[in-house]
Amino acid sequence: LMYLDHLASTPLDPAVLEEMLPWMGVAAAGNPHAAGHRRGWRAAEAIERARGDVAALIGARAGEILFMSGATEANALALLGGVPEGWPVLCSAVEHPSVLACVGELARRGHATETLPVDAAGRVDPDAVRIDGPALVSVMAANNEVGTIQPVADLARRCRERGGLFHTDAVQALSTGLLDVAAMGIDLASLSGHKLYGPMGIGALYVRQGVAVRPLLFGGGQQGGQRPGTLPTALCVGLGAACRIARERGAADAARLRELRERLFAVLADGVPGLRRNSPSAEGMGLAGCLHVAVPGLDAADRLLDLPELALSTGSACSSGEGGPSHVLLAMGRSVEDAFGSIRIGLGRFTTAEEVDRAGALLVEALQRGS
Ligand code: PLP
Repeated sequence: LMYLDHLASTPLDPAVLEEMLPWMGVAAAGNPHAAGHRRGWRAAEAIERARGDVAALIGARAGEILFMSGATEANALALLGGVPEGWPVLCSAVEHPSVLACVGELARRGHATETLPVDAAGRVDPDAVRIDGPALVSVMAANNEVGTIQPVADLARRCRERGGLFHTDAVQALSTGLLDVAAMGIDLASLSGHKLYGPMGIGALYVRQGVAVRPLLFGGGQQGGQRPGTLPTALCVGLGAACRIARERGAADAARLRELRERLFAVLADGVPGLRRNSPSAEGMGLAGCLHVAVPGLDAADRLLDLPELALSTGSACSSGEGGPSHVLLAMGRSVEDAFGSIRIGLGRFTTAEEVDRAGALLVEALQRGS
């Protein structure tokens, strides 16, 4: 099976697994919050090292990182816990459902909310952020369906000028690119382990020093009470290792993936009449490993079931279960037909050129067969 669904989830890097394993055996038993013995202290040390590695990837300080169960929780804490009483809340039309649903909940709780439109490439125009006073603005760093990279530094500046707070769901941007939260003026940022070759079930929220979040959970006071609960040592260590590796090789991975992506696109464009690209092609506008295309007349969900050798996606993992057309493609002005006739290919760190060539040939054959 060729795994080409890296925007849904990345495989665990074997080097990350190796660092995690010692924290999973009998010898690693010990609560990292246990004050009374060496086992607990050692686990706590490992977790704090990992916190430092997470912080280093995004230009933050260790004390600004809270470990979470994943980005869904990080987005919830940033939005539900981060918004001050009575502030308006703005987000883009192409956010992940875990952000959109929180903004919906804030509307039910009485906040004024606004959805920022995107252009045909899926980008938010910073000039469209029209706020007179403080607001919480949430725009993702990169989109999980079409890979569009957002101008987060400009958006954060707009927001700051009005005394507001800027949150970014940075989940998709971190395996191949760097986000510098300090330089970009970001107040809150969400991360997820299984999108950067780390483990599933762990993520983090960056909370800029001085920004207050109200906890969603209550308990033993761990992580300053902002996110209580016993931390999973092995998962925290894994997230830290994944962040350290992303920092070391993210730029090189991106350059290689961009080449593979263009190689695959050339094959598809050549072999499939009428194929159109939904993911941005301009340098710096889209994620290096993401290729999203629309094929006229295709009902992607049906046709791709015939390709058992390929794991790729006809939508995002999070909305494809619902069966509707992608809200991202519709917000970009695509037709419902295009939204159903699109496929998303996510290349990753371990994807080889041979796999790309083989996948290209298989896809061309399958797509020609039906059109
Ligand atoms: N945000 C984006 C952009 C995503 O792609 C995902 C993926 O699932 C999430 C949030 C949710 O992350 P998690 O699976 O860690 O809850």
